[in-house]
Amino acid sequence: MQKRLLQWYEKNGRHELPWRNTTNIYHIYLSEIMLQQTQVNRVRDEYYPQFLAKFPTLKTLADAQESEVLAAWSGLGYYSRARNLHKTAKLCENELPKSYEELLKLPGIGSYTASAICAFGYHQNLPVLDTNIKRVIKRLFALINPSEKELTRQAVKVLNDKEPRAHNLALMDLGSLVCLPKNPKCQECPLTSECQGKEEPELYTQTKKTKYETMELFYGVCVKDDKITLVKTEGSMYKGMLSLPCVDPLEDDFLVSFKHAYTKYRLSVHLYRLDEAPKDAIWLSLEELESAPISSLVTKALTALNLKKLP
Ligand code: SF4
Repeated sequence: MQKRLLQWYEKNGRHELPWRNTTNIYHIYLSEIMLQQTQVNRVRDEYYPQFLAKFPTLKTLADAQESEVLAAWSGLGYYSRARNLHKTAKLCENELPKSYEELLKLPGIGSYTASAICAFGYHQNLPVLDTNIKRVIKRLFALINPSEKELTRQAVKVLNDKEPRAHNLALMDLGSLVCLPKNPKCQECPLTSECQGKEEPELYTQTKKTKYETMELFYGVCVKDDKITLVKTEGSMYKGMLSLPCVDPLEDDFLVSFKHAYTKYRLSVHLYRLDEAPKDAIWLSLEELESAPISSLVTKALTALNLKKLP
């Protein structure tokens, strides 16, 4: 089965992904952090090359200001990832540790990322359990709602200890290209003869429906001499980012509304004219906004106001 899986991977795998063609551990680590919540194509085509152009080494990242790192992360969301990446770079400076246990002690590195760095970067004999691999393992062994421990136990059972890196990448691609959440292509699968779940594949991947929370947000817009006011965000989710100031809405000052989706939140955002800038406001020109640490919500607000066009 391992041999068939590797043959399938050799022929069909996504070998062109840049983080698969490097031995640089920092680059592999960065890709894993970016890929946690962002689609492969966006990471590959936009964020990964842009971020590495700015911070090519762990040391350059460690030496940067947090605001510069957040600015390079703008639009990717989940900004705690960028803050933790920066903290980890400061702690390690030149090299990430080689052991799974040591990696786990670093900010923002959980069990998945630690095992991915060990397997993909250091070629260690560890199973990597991302969403795609979990789906394959669940179906392969017909596991309904297994615990993480059980999934790990089964993944270890099939792990190819001679080629752990290629094995994990192969399972990842199999989950992404063949063992799809709906209508898996079992006829094309190299594991079909061993698969215990192929008769009812969707039985093993039922997930709870996400409960969305709706919220209304009200922001003020103060523009003078081609500059707009933003304020530093203190809340944990957007900490260190720049945002429009919150306001109590006054009907006469209404400008525009738009919808925005963020994780489990479905937001209705309303913008109002603000005559006086808040005390702690930062004035930024359109040019300065290009390299400022702003979220995609703020970018959308600027677009709705016709102040900044999205690329
Ligand atoms: S045989 Fe079908 S269900 Fe089983 S691992 Fe392959 S694609 Fe998934």
